[in-house]
Formats: sequence, structure tokens, C-alpha cells
Amino acid sequence: MEKTVQLYEGKAKKVYATDDPRYVIVSYKDDATAFDGTKKGTIRGKGAVNNRMSNFLMQKLAEEGVPTHYVSEINDRETVVKKVEIVPLEVIVRNVSAGHFASRYGVEEGIVFDEPVLEFSYKNDDLHDPLLNTSHALALKLATREEIETIRFMALKVNQVLKAFFAQCGVNLIDFKLEFGRLPNGEIVLADEISPDTCRFWDAKTGEKLDKDRFRRDLGNVEEAYQEMMRRVFGEQA
Ligand code: UDP
Repeated sequence: MEKTVQLYEGKAKKVYATDDPRYVIVSYKDDATAFDGTKKGTIRGKGAVNNRMSNFLMQKLAEEGVPTHYVSEINDRETVVKKVEIVPLEVIVRNVSAGHFASRYGVEEGIVFDEPVLEFSYKNDDLHDPLLNTSHALALKLATREEIETIRFMALKVNQVLKAFFAQCGVNLIDFKLEFGRLPNGEIVLADEISPDTCRFWDAKTGEKLDKDRFRRDLGNVEEAYQEMMRRVFGEQA
């Protein structure tokens, strides 16, 4: 499948049309942003890590019954995915307190929750992605009640599968963000990416952060953390 025109350029990815209207090609960049785009940088090799890891995890999730947008990997940075209409919700699942949960509610990071916390933000850069609940989402007509129920169910299933998988890799899955899309027939599928940009990964033994927090918080060894996560997921052949 060939790229035709560029449809969109986001902070970390470009999206191209193809000769088939059902599909688009996503191209992952090494660019990194944080804090609402105010911090900018480059993480060498990130595009390839995120592309390959996300594709691997999406295939694993599909095997476990979670429908996704994934179609096929073209090369290290580029993937064919189903064209969807993105539901403008950022769906965050948390197993352990960190990031905005800790700052917003005034608790320390590292509190293990008895059950996962599910949270929605309105995906809107101008408004800085405000936190919202189901009734807000319904009032704003961001999704139907049925779609929100499906998204909630799928997000919790994704958490079960990923938490167990990363545990085998010696990694604690602290929290992550998902996005969902609508296919032309109305079916909801998992979209966007699952990567060290969108998840918090802490080494199970040492607690070392192996994700984008190394960039956000200037912790150093950013590239190394992304490569380490590749090794954890793919083994030494990564
Ligand atoms: N996250 C993301 N994109 C966003 C906001 C959050 O991928 O625009 C991810 C983030 O990497 C973390 C989880 O969602 O794994 C929870 O993030 P949080 O709400 O704590 O916000 P953050 O501190 O990351 O801004």
C-alpha cells in the first residue's frame, strides 16, 4: 500500500491517506513534547520503538478479543491502520498513583490501588484536555452511552491483558492513556498507540522509570529507557 497525501501531523505522528479509503498509514516521529506542548525535544529511536511496541501490543490485544485499528507493519516507523473517526476522549487507566493523579489529589506517587481507576479527559488541546465524567461526555455528545460503556469495558480488558504481560517482562504498568475510534459501520476499536509515550512503566525490582517521564522530568537516559523497554518486550533480538 502506498502513501498518498498527508492528512495530519500531530506531535508524535504523521498520518497519510492511501489509495484505499479504508486505510491510512501512520508514520512515527522521534519528536517528543510534554506539558501541553511547551516542552519540546527529540528522543532518538523513539519512533521505531513506539511503532513496533504498539503494533506488537495491539496484536496481542486482538488475540485476547479486543478489536483494534491495526492492519500491518510496513517498516520500523510506518504502519497501515484502519481509518477511524477518533472519539474525542482520552481514556486513562491507573493501577498506581502517579502524575496528575498524585498532583491533583495531593497524594504521593506509588500508592497501589485496590482496583483500577478509569478516567476520561476531553481530547481538546485548546482547552488543555479537561477531566470529565460520563454525564459531561454525554452532554457534549462526544460519544453515546452505549459507546462509553463499550469503551469502559474495553479499557479495563486492555488493562488486564497489559498488566499481566508487562509483569512477565519485569515491569509494573502504573497507568496509561488509550484512544478509541469508530469504524464506518459504527464499531468501536482501540486506536492511537500504546508505548512508553503513553504508559508509565516502572521496573518491578528497582522502581526505575522506563517511560516518557524521563523526558518530562529531565531524569536522563531517555533513549536508553525506550531501548530497555524494547528489550523487555521483544527480548534480546530487539
Ligand atoms: N498520557 C498521555 N497523553 C496525555 C496525557 C497522559 O499519553 O496527553 C498518559 C501518561 O503518559 C500517563 C497516563 O496517561 O501514562 C496518565 O497521565 P496523567 O494524567 O498522570 O498526566 P501526565 O502527568 O502524564 O501529564
